[in-house]
Amino acid sequence: MPAYEYVCSKCGSKEIRITGINDHKVFCDQCDGEMFRHVDPESLLASYATSQVNAR
Ligand SMILES: [Zn+2]
Repeated sequence: MPAYEYVCSKCGSKEIRITGINDHKVFCDQCDGEMFRHVDPESLLASYATSQVNAR
């Protein structure tokens, strides 16, 4: 299963969580705030490059 880095919207703490197919909401262990998936800039670039190739 894939592991993603999540960032808390309240306190900013980062955690690696393993997620299943369904993208469940993730809550912070520290403050119980909602956490959002932290997107790796490198993977963003890679998907951009891939979409450019596919567009041609
Ligand atoms: Zn937090």
